[in-house]
Amino acid sequence: MCKCKVIAIANQKGGVGKTTTTLNIGVGLANLGKKVLLIDADAQANLTVSLGFNRPDMLSYTTGQAMVDIANEDKIDKSNLLHNDEGVDLLPSNLRLSALENQIIPLLGRESLLKGFIEQVKSDYDYILVDCSPTLNIITINAFTAADSVLIPTQPSYLAVQGLQDLLKTVSQVKRQLNPKLSISGILITMYDSRTNYSKEVIDILRENYDELIFNTVIPRSIKQEEASTDGKSIYSYAKNNKVALAYKNLIEEVK
Ligand code: ATP
Ligand code: MG
Repeated sequence: MCKCKVIAIANQKGGVGKTTTTLNIGVGLANLGKKVLLIDADAQANLTVSLGFNRPDMLSYTTGQAMVDIANEDKIDKSNLLHNDEGVDLLPSNLRLSALENQIIPLLGRESLLKGFIEQVKSDYDYILVDCSPTLNIITINAFTAADSVLIPTQPSYLAVQGLQDLLKTVSQVKRQLNPKLSISGILITMYDSRTNYSKEVIDILRENYDELIFNTVIPRSIKQEEASTDGKSIYSYAKNNKVALAYKNLIEEVK
């Protein structure tokens, strides 16, 4: 039996730490000797660039292409996947993924194209993490259809928390109609600033409403994380003793 865990990292709210979380969980697991594939399912291609591939527009084999291949019943050529020097493999993305959304909407089985790709590669990996875009579009629905669980990063702000209900509703719809094994891996509080009472208040609200879903680990805010993202590195190689690196290591123990 295949032991690979597939986790979609999603929240339709922008800038809550989805890409950062995907990269830091992925590289953290690779540092523990796990085989990891990261899938960039966002046309913004932030994950692709954060892993050091600075010209996503030049890449020909992308998440979009993999989905087209599955729609055409082509076999996946695994040698097309990229390798990052921090030990993870990558199915990259670029802007063309936005155009693909409209093309796949009329297709039969349009929600299961990414699942078709993952089925063909999952025996090579212990973990596959899918970095979703800040929309609940057909590509995100593909990620939910392919995943075992959804990990939801959120910032401790009222606006960020307001959208959680819609997201959880979409996850349960996909579970009902397309993927009965789908679960919520957990809600992850990111970019927490312990100096503000406001953050603490929002965390209290989150715990009141979603207690059992919230990870014990909270990711603190640190300028080092922003610098690492800009530098195309994980927090472990940019600042390995930073509080964000330590928090992501704790999170991995909860997710594993
Ligand atoms: P989008 O919705 O656009 O895909 P996202 O949810 O993927 O955004 P990220 O790109 O991971 O969010 O993070 C948004 C910004 O916040 C980035 O500049 C990133 O470097 C920064 N950031 C993420 N986590 C932290 C942190 N713990 N401390 C400080 N900055 C952070
Ligand atoms: Mg992102």
